Amino acid sequence: MLYHSTNNPAHRVDLKEAILRSLPPDNGLYMPDSLPVLDPAFWQFWHELTFPEIGIAVADAFFGEDVPPQALVDIVEGTVTFDAPLVTLGPGDHMLELFHGPTLAFKDFGARFMARLMAWLTRGEDRELTVLVATSGDTGGAVASAFHNVPGTRVIILYPQGKVSGLQEKQLTALGGNITALEIQGTFDDCQALVKSAFLDRDLAERLNLTSANSINLARLVPQSFYYIHASRQLPEGVIPTFVIPSGNFGNLTAGLLALQLGLPVDHFIAATNRNDVVPEYLRTGQYIPRPGVPTISNAMDVGAPSNFVRMAALFGGSWEAMKSRITGMSFSDDQTRAAIRTVKALYQYEIDPHGAVGWLAAQKWRSTHPSSATITLETAHPAKFPDVMEAELGPNSIEVPERLAILAGREKVATLLPADPTVFRDWLTASL
Ligand SMILES: *Cc1c(COP(=O)(O)O)cnc(C)c1O
Repeated sequence: MLYHSTNNPAHRVDLKEAILRSLPPDNGLYMPDSLPVLDPAFWQFWHELTFPEIGIAVADAFFGEDVPPQALVDIVEGTVTFDAPLVTLGPGDHMLELFHGPTLAFKDFGARFMARLMAWLTRGEDRELTVLVATSGDTGGAVASAFHNVPGTRVIILYPQGKVSGLQEKQLTALGGNITALEIQGTFDDCQALVKSAFLDRDLAERLNLTSANSINLARLVPQSFYYIHASRQLPEGVIPTFVIPSGNFGNLTAGLLALQLGLPVDHFIAATNRNDVVPEYLRTGQYIPRPGVPTISNAMDVGAPSNFVRMAALFGGSWEAMKSRITGMSFSDDQTRAAIRTVKALYQYEIDPHGAVGWLAAQKWRSTHPSSATITLETAHPAKFPDVMEAELGPNSIEVPERLAILAGREKVATLLPADPTVFRDWLTASL
């Protein structure tokens, strides 16, 4: 399979280059030349498959031409080592829990798959790979965990100072070894711009053997489509869901569109955002106006210039009409989100994190006008990752912290503070060689 840039269909590269380069030199994003469809035999028996078996079929559809079957099986089985269970709150109101991995957020799926695919693509090479990643909270932790102690790699994480939760910060800064954290005096969008600037400096990118782990990397999107299929499989046969996706950079939603393309029956998609509502606004008005991100209590979605928007647009052939026929946007305030956390606890004894709460609000709104719908809301992180917000609503010690998160709390934070300045960043990178 070849991959092309969204900015230039004539710029085509192979899998290795698309994954390791991450970003085409023209500042577009890579897309597969043809989008795979799973064959009818799969859709006949998919209700009987396990989660890893679904993953293997999807991975084979995307990467089977380039990666031998046994290697793909190993990559998927090494990735999907935990479940994504569907939990039903009320009639038609389902939550897909994506937080059962090592860092308690859905990003574990993409990061673990990417680390394994990159290791396979660079097998037998002796150059160290530098993985650069900007994070609004959860990406960095997932990527750090996925690559921690992987020989031949080092990971450099950029995160916005003061805009991630204390435990999220520990996940980025307390691992040590081949993981380095940079605390940037700016917003997530600044971090993302710094990463882009390093890639666009071809000379530096080459010298550092630079690769990116942001959701601009296709290797993260494909495994996220596994759980859309796995989620639908957990509904009674014949029920066609509406997926509600709490969104920031829109990687997760793009993965849902890939699942649709693979042949998954989907009634509709809801793009749920906090006040950073660039995409809901576009869906409503047809005007796409990126702007600086503003901080909210669902901080992993504080994105003002979502990087996967160009991929979404490409999947709809650039047509606003086509996109809005499939996706409805909704945005909610922090006050609404806080109220939702309390309501869900009171009604269902369920602790929903602030990101899932934004999705849950959208799901209720959708079902109020589409009462026969079954909504599956992606619960993107475990509530224990956001103790300040959760305890403010539900009371002190209201959330049990899973062991794998609790052990990080006692560790020391190690990070280098840098201004949001591309020149300073490039100098730091050069000196780090
Ligand atoms: C990253 C993240 C999101 C946003 O996902 P995108 O793919 O960037 O849209 C939502 N919730 C949580 C908890 C996240 O970590």
